[in-house]
Amino acid sequence: MLKESFTGTQIAYYVVCKRKLWLFSHQISFEKYSDYVELGKLINEETFKKEKHKELELGDVKIDFIKTKNGIVVHEVKKSRKLEPAHIWQVKFYIYKLKELGINCSSGIIHYPKLLKKIEVKFTEKDKEIIEGFKRNVGIILESSLPPPIKVKYCKKCSYYEFCYS
Ligand code: SF4
Repeated sequence: MLKESFTGTQIAYYVVCKRKLWLFSHQISFEKYSDYVELGKLINEETFKKEKHKELELGDVKIDFIKTKNGIVVHEVKKSRKLEPAHIWQVKFYIYKLKELGINCSSGIIHYPKLLKKIEVKFTEKDKEIIEGFKRNVGIILESSLPPPIKVKYCKKCSYYEFCYS
């Protein structure tokens, strides 16, 4: 039976590259040694230092959120907008998880502090169907053999670059 529980990172990697998703999900990881990832973590800590935010842990999923009078707003901090579609789906996935628990949440904000930008993410009923499709596809990919490299510009920034191309 296919696994059905995934993290926001897995959903983002599904959007970016199926091979990256597969490697990460099989605990093959070089993330710890990537300066790029370390910088991302630092930005996250610095950005939220002054804000009253909370982190919610749902199993493997960790969600930063801020409570407002209109409900919960998910917050996610990223370094650059290069992978913006993946960031948007990651936030939508968090909203989906919160909704599954009956929590009132239908929007999120992605912060790009280095660019002094933020974007709002709205969750629609159609998004629910799309995410359920993502989950089915992720399950199938993880049961299959390692997908081939995709050879895109982003590869040079990816922590698996040397693994894929050396
Ligand atoms: S280097 Fe490119 S092909 Fe390899 S995992 Fe990363 S994004 Fe995918």
